Amino acid sequence: MVEASEEVYSSLHQRFLGDFVRPGDGGYEEARAIWNSLAARKPGLIALCQDVSDVENALKAAFEVGILTAIRCGGHSLAGFSSCDHGLVIDLSRMRQVKVDAEARRASIAGGCLLGSIDAATQKAGLVFPSGVVSHTGASGLILGGGTGWLTRRFGLSCDNVEGFTLLTAEGSQVRASAQENLDLFWALRGGGGNFGVATEFELKLHPLTAVTLAEGLSSETDIRSLLRYWRDFMAEAPLDLKWNISLRLGPHTRAVPHELRGKAVAGNALIWTGDAAAGRRYLEPGLSRCRSDSVSSKRISFLDLQTMADSDFPHGRRYYTKSGYFSHLDDASIDLMIDAVSSVPSLETQIELAYLGGAAARIRATETAFGDRSAPFILNLLGSWSEATADAANLSWIRGLFERLRPAMNPGAYVNFMSGDEQDRVPEVYRERWDRMVAVKSHYDPTNFFRLNQNVPPRQPPKTFS
Ligand SMILES: Cc1cc2nc3c(=O)[nH]c(=O)nc-3n(C[C@H](O)[C@H](O)[C@H](O)COP(=O)(O)OP(=O)(O)OC[C@H]3O[C@@H](n4cnc5c(N)ncnc54)[C@H](O)[C@@H]3O)c2cc1C
Repeated sequence: MVEASEEVYSSLHQRFLGDFVRPGDGGYEEARAIWNSLAARKPGLIALCQDVSDVENALKAAFEVGILTAIRCGGHSLAGFSSCDHGLVIDLSRMRQVKVDAEARRASIAGGCLLGSIDAATQKAGLVFPSGVVSHTGASGLILGGGTGWLTRRFGLSCDNVEGFTLLTAEGSQVRASAQENLDLFWALRGGGGNFGVATEFELKLHPLTAVTLAEGLSSETDIRSLLRYWRDFMAEAPLDLKWNISLRLGPHTRAVPHELRGKAVAGNALIWTGDAAAGRRYLEPGLSRCRSDSVSSKRISFLDLQTMADSDFPHGRRYYTKSGYFSHLDDASIDLMIDAVSSVPSLETQIELAYLGGAAARIRATETAFGDRSAPFILNLLGSWSEATADAANLSWIRGLFERLRPAMNPGAYVNFMSGDEQDRVPEVYRERWDRMVAVKSHYDPTNFFRLNQNVPPRQPPKTFS
């Protein structure tokens, strides 16, 4: 394998505009770092691409040599798919150009953009692209897997707001996918992850929005059951402008948290209202009235503040593990299981995240894109977060145990972007009735399964063996 990365380096370095980093180089530790240290890897060669021609040349060389290759945008894959041991990393982090056409409400972004790069550029024109909730997340991985966030109910998933993709295949050929060109590929790229090639450019649809109302508060342990029962019924009738996320966890030891709630099971409520501030009060009030009065706040904030407010809660370099699924109905027994589990959670940072999808995302038929279940509105994400390797076993076991207890009440399926690296057996379940079409598109565009560091859809043909 070391020889393979040397071979790629030798064939590339004279025509490569960017930089290479190899084991032993000064910047190697920094260059190989990904967000989730639980999934850290040691690649044999990292190619920091300067532009599309670098990506094309790197792909051609890698395909020729047959080296295991990871594609990296923001490096936030929970599974660590944007790195690999001994192989090649094609790193797009220098390709963060965003071009906004304010009049047309459109943008084109390069394949290495973070969500924050897009928000900064589009807000200058008072426009938004609906994406995720942490600005240091990579846009490519998020969009290709689907993309949920504060604006999903109002404007749809991130992938629903992409009008065109430019892709490089394993052989380095350029392909376009849109509603006019390569329709199967266009369908598959909206939810199919990095299975088909390297997306070097996305054409995005934008929407006007510059500020929202943010209402927050904590519900104490004894109120969580009634809160969740209320929330599940309330959200079914709520307007598109309301997004109300709940996370169950142990109360953090921070100034913002009342003393009596620290270290105890709490429900953190975050409600976002994207419409007219005055009209929103009546929809925010029911949520706030279920929180402790000394923990409640409500204010208008800029869209950029909204998009960055959670950045420091999910720092790079900790150990993370997730399991996720959908519910079409959140029954009382599942609510009780979650509440019981919080008191035994091994880490103060671990959260049971609950979001209600529906809205604009649910108005698109399941057959229109590859993205998983749009009919089951409740998305659960068990997000384990801790810092020491010695605590791995306890944290993994808590998450897996709770997931298994909740699973019988869930719909089949999962959201690929919230899956860990040990869930390959669940990938057919993600695409279900869309599986055969996914396999057909994969077989056409990546018949050798060159792009396999992802929630993988294997092609029909026997894959070439990569060293
Ligand atoms: C802190 C944090 C917050 C998150 N918040 C949200 C959220 O609010 N909503 C949500 O939906 N998801 C969220 N996620 C999940 C996120 O969508 C996935 O982790 C996503 O894969 C991250 O994309 P990335 O580009 O940073 O990942 P990377 O690790 O760089 O890549 C992820 C996958 O995409 C592939 N890939 C990357 N770039 C390209 C490209 N240009 N072309 C083809 N394939 C490519 C990689 O090979 C890999 O398989 C969050 C994750 C984290 C860590």
